[in-house]
Amino acid sequence: MPTPHDLPFTRTTCSGCGAIVEGLNNRFSCTVCGWVNRWDDSTSPLPSAEDDPDYPGSKKR
Ligand SMILES: [Zn+2]
Repeated sequence: MPTPHDLPFTRTTCSGCGAIVEGLNNRFSCTVCGWVNRWDDSTSPLPSAEDDPDYPGSKKR
């Protein structure tokens, strides 16, 4: 299990308000103004609905 220190945090400047925002895999959301970057700016594929632990069709419960 990785610790937060092992994760590849990336940093950018918010396109909405200029604040410094940090994220994982080039996915960012600004807690100041609510800006989020495009999903396809990320370097990793977007998880599918089936990857969500709360997915209704999940059989892992
Ligand atoms: Zn912002």
